[in-house]
Amino acid sequence: MPLFGSHVSAAGGVSKAVARAVEVGCDCLQIFTKNNNRWAAKPLSEKDIAAWRSAMDESTLSNPIAHASYLINLASPKDDLFQKSIDALVVELERGNQLELEGLVVHPGAFTTSDEADGLDRVIAGVTEALARVEPGSCRLLLENTAGQGSCLGHTIEQLATMIGGISDNKRVGVCLDTCHAFAAGYAIHTDDGFAEMMKEIRGKLPKGCIAALHLNDSKKPLGSRVDRHEHIGRGEIGLDAFRNVISDPLLSTLPGYLETEKGTDEETGEDWDKINLRTLRGLLAPEI
Ligand SMILES: [Zn+2]
Repeated sequence: MPLFGSHVSAAGGVSKAVARAVEVGCDCLQIFTKNNNRWAAKPLSEKDIAAWRSAMDESTLSNPIAHASYLINLASPKDDLFQKSIDALVVELERGNQLELEGLVVHPGAFTTSDEADGLDRVIAGVTEALARVEPGSCRLLLENTAGQGSCLGHTIEQLATMIGGISDNKRVGVCLDTCHAFAAGYAIHTDDGFAEMMKEIRGKLPKGCIAALHLNDSKKPLGSRVDRHEHIGRGEIGLDAFRNVISDPLLSTLPGYLETEKGTDEETGEDWDKINLRTLRGLLAPEI
């Protein structure tokens, strides 16, 4: 059975996320290790780190990862924002290593007033500098595929392959594959053929072992909309059958999958949405009676 989990709040301290993940029945979890809408971060204290480690040790959770700040833009043509993004990435990678996380997911960034080729070069240079400044540890940098909003890079497998291929220390980088983003970017994963086609491209273009994590989200917006709006599993434009394909695929089924769907409770049943979505995913793998 693959590992399924969710992005959970770390409000009150990173260790607090563990109990929240356990409560909804996660096998794995994703957190923000700092406020994701701010540049500044108070360093993690020895106490924060110890509390996180002991909470993780006492739980059955594995494969903890973090999502990096949304402010980071490694593709920016503006030197100040580019440098600020690298500095922020260094801090987030160091925090990931301190917390013994398996990965840090980052959106490659938007090239804004430059162009695709310059943007891709910037991402490669930015990641290369950040990795050179961080002592290697547990935390691998995971570039996430994007929906392709505006000038955001990473919406094609080709672009991800270019970025990974350009980073010489590429054992320390990988990809986090988001189902909603792939669909919004134009990969027709809602059909068997469309999904097979995307997987063929992944196998052909990305190095073996490159995809390290899945973001499991349905999409509110249609195929190719290039708009990033997550929906509960099986309740959006992608649909349940597609998720069965994703989590049964030989390349993907061994990876941890994290929900990034809306929190709260179902108005009709009062049940927690993470619980519902995790049950839906696990139900797709249950033998049919
Ligand atoms: Zn995602």
